Amino acid sequence: MDLYEYQAKDVFAAHGVPVLPGRTVDTAAEAERAAQEIGTAVVVKAQVKTGGRGKAGGVKLAKDPAEAKEKAEAILGLDIKGHVVHRVLVTEASDIAEEYYFSFLLDRSNRTFLAMCSAEGGMEIEELAVERPEALARVPIDPIAGVDRAKADEIVKQGKLPAEIADEAAQVIVKLWETFVGEDATLVEVNPLVRDPQDRVIALDGKVTLDDNADFRHAEHAQLVDERTANPLEAKAKEKGLNYVKLEGGQVGIIGNGAGLVMSTLDVVAYAGEAHGGMKPANFLDIGGGASAEVMAAGMDVILGDDDVKSVFVNVFGGITACDAVANGIVEALGILGDDATKPLVVRLDGNNVDEGRRILAEANHPLVTVVDTMDDAAAKAAELAARA
Ligand code: GDP
Ligand code: MN
Repeated sequence: MDLYEYQAKDVFAAHGVPVLPGRTVDTAAEAERAAQEIGTAVVVKAQVKTGGRGKAGGVKLAKDPAEAKEKAEAILGLDIKGHVVHRVLVTEASDIAEEYYFSFLLDRSNRTFLAMCSAEGGMEIEELAVERPEALARVPIDPIAGVDRAKADEIVKQGKLPAEIADEAAQVIVKLWETFVGEDATLVEVNPLVRDPQDRVIALDGKVTLDDNADFRHAEHAQLVDERTANPLEAKAKEKGLNYVKLEGGQVGIIGNGAGLVMSTLDVVAYAGEAHGGMKPANFLDIGGGASAEVMAAGMDVILGDDDVKSVFVNVFGGITACDAVANGIVEALGILGDDATKPLVVRLDGNNVDEGRRILAEANHPLVTVVDTMDDAAAKAAELAARA
């Protein structure tokens, strides 16, 4: 889960990383009041989970409360890369002497953690990494040893941060490491990390990605979930213990059992879709080992709830749960869903007791269901039906 800037900064503050005081509000009137309370010039910042807010007009300086109100009015409702701004952070405006870049992240390809540090912050780091890679230090972090003061000093030096603030910066980096480990994050990024005219080092922006696999260790992280933008279908699936993932730009809903089969189904559908106007998977749902009627109904309910879905491909390989049980599950699920089931379903069954499974589906003869014997043909059929819809 990605956090909003204000949440990231709350987390930073809890770990002793210096941030500026601020308040998060969702109306312009509240922004004015917040600026009044803060009592200095403020910066009004769009709270959306995407970068480049500054460039998109989502970060504005306001010298007094009236101006804060104006700026908040301009920012609220703004669409930044597809994210609509519902909330702004009103925060004390900092005088900036210099902007740096700093991050800790999980470096999957090298199977380690990585610190990235540069004296040239503020700008888009992807650009810097391409145009002047020598200006961006990459320091691998041994996950067992972690980041102590000596390691932090090394990072500061390699990032070429100025000597005057080297000590402060190293202290902040140790605290950012404590944040990274303590919160089970896969990313902690500060861009910019700034030096103010008094040589204080402050996190002016914050991006934190929490590792959802560690949720069980962090009951407190549940409150960071934004109900407003959380995908309702993902929430519904999670509630039912199903693994549902939304994909962008597709039309075919995918239900399968087992991660491997589901992944290959995605490939096969994308391939088959090329012959049908570029139909692609719209989402996928792994119903796991036990494809009971309830699980199937819950899964179909979730998949059919996605407006992008024009057809559904149910691809199940019967193992411990035999095909006849899966077929009964599909038939019962269609019964449970009744009129809520409106989109064509292509079913491919194979494996344990496949003949009986196919017989059950043939007998039920449901108008929405097409049974196809092979995975490739079923994918083509699902793509064809999606294209026709
Ligand atoms: P991003 O564009 O989404 O990364 O948003 P940032 O929080 O990084 O803000 C973008 C830029 O706005 C920063 O690089 C700063 O130059 C500027 N900025 C943000 N907050 C302040 C502030 O408190 N004071 C001043 N003077 N500039 C700020
Ligand atoms: Mn930034």
